[in-house]
Amino acid sequence: MIKKLRVKPLSLLEKVFFLDFLRGLRVTIKNAFKPTITTHYPYQRLTPPKRFRGFFGHKVVDGTEPQPAFYEWVNRYNIKVEYGKSRCVVCMRCKRACPVPQLFEIEGKKLPDGKRVVSVFNMNLLLCTYCGFCVDACPVDCLYQTDLHETASYSRKDAVLTLEVLERIGREWQRRREREPDLIWPPEEERLKLWGENGLKLPETQRGK
Ligand code: SF4
Ligand code: SF4
Repeated sequence: MIKKLRVKPLSLLEKVFFLDFLRGLRVTIKNAFKPTITTHYPYQRLTPPKRFRGFFGHKVVDGTEPQPAFYEWVNRYNIKVEYGKSRCVVCMRCKRACPVPQLFEIEGKKLPDGKRVVSVFNMNLLLCTYCGFCVDACPVDCLYQTDLHETASYSRKDAVLTLEVLERIGREWQRRREREPDLIWPPEEERLKLWGENGLKLPETQRGK
């Protein structure tokens, strides 16, 4: 059944003085003088929340690994632990959890002492949906999504994160944000105290709001 909408006809006063037009203009003028809530990217950049799900990183061994889970997995897979290197135990759980597993290329290698280490860990982000399943599946809190979100590159090759790049991103993230309270949006003063002036920060116009 087609329902016909009845449009209320304009009164003579509304027709003569364009009252609807003036009502619309009032909304425009009211908003024209309000403070801007958008940012002038890329000249102004917001700090994403700590839980932002951006570019990936590998957290490295630095004494803050989940205990005792980390060493249980290390023993299970006979992994050699090296300070400052990836926590990965080559369990493949991230790859198995991924809806597009072919984007991962993971290999381990055996050392002369019989222990193993991760030797290849490539992630082709051109195929990634940033769903975070791989991060949830990692049993040793190694694979992580950081706050980096400017991921454009000029070549397909640059869209593949290698083990070296993942470790560098993870190390940097641990240095910048590991100690930050796990709030969705910490106060700017608190963030500046933790980050110093090195990281991304709210633009002047957005401070204290
Ligand atoms: S975020 Fe999702 S799609 Fe991307 S690698 Fe992880 S599991 Fe796969
Ligand atoms: S789930 Fe974690 S430990 Fe296992 S292979 Fe992936 S990154 Fe490495």
